[in-house]
Amino acid sequence: MPTRAFDDPEREEHRLAALAQIRQFGDPSLRTPASPVTEFDATLGEEVQRMLSIMTAARGVGLAAPQLGALRRVIVASQDEEGAEPRAFVNPVVAWRAEEEELGEEGCLSLGEIVVDVPRAVAVRVEARDPAGAGFELEVEGLFARVLLHEIDHLDGVLILDRTTAEQRREALRELRATAVA
Ligand code: ZN
Repeated sequence: MPTRAFDDPEREEHRLAALAQIRQFGDPSLRTPASPVTEFDATLGEEVQRMLSIMTAARGVGLAAPQLGALRRVIVASQDEEGAEPRAFVNPVVAWRAEEEELGEEGCLSLGEIVVDVPRAVAVRVEARDPAGAGFELEVEGLFARVLLHEIDHLDGVLILDRTTAEQRREALRELRATAVA
């Protein structure tokens, strides 16, 4: 989930450099289901660090490995609490979701400036492993729940375009095609 421009030119330059590393709509990585991680090794740790730094520089609140072309089930996300460090989720699974859904606006670091309405469960419980392989469980609500559902969708090749209304999807596709040829 994105992102807006920085006022500070240096940070803005970093943001654009980070965005340039993120696969954009049309890239097959965004439509291919990712594989579970089996080795919790140094390579995974490095991959997670790279994801965290790109997400932060891009001013995103979440990022999934396939957005960097790695078809592995890894996501990173900012946490709601102020000052809390962003967190990595390896092989995340939605173990429970609230029946109640809420409509909210979502964008995506892989979809340029597109923003569409997406219904999401208001609360979820996610089971995952940390980059060292330790299992944990987290129950969250509101924006954090929305971000996790958005990023876990990426691991299955699902985009917000698939979750919004037919009309908003049509309009978004028109906009994406216009940007592609521009
Ligand atoms: Zn996204």
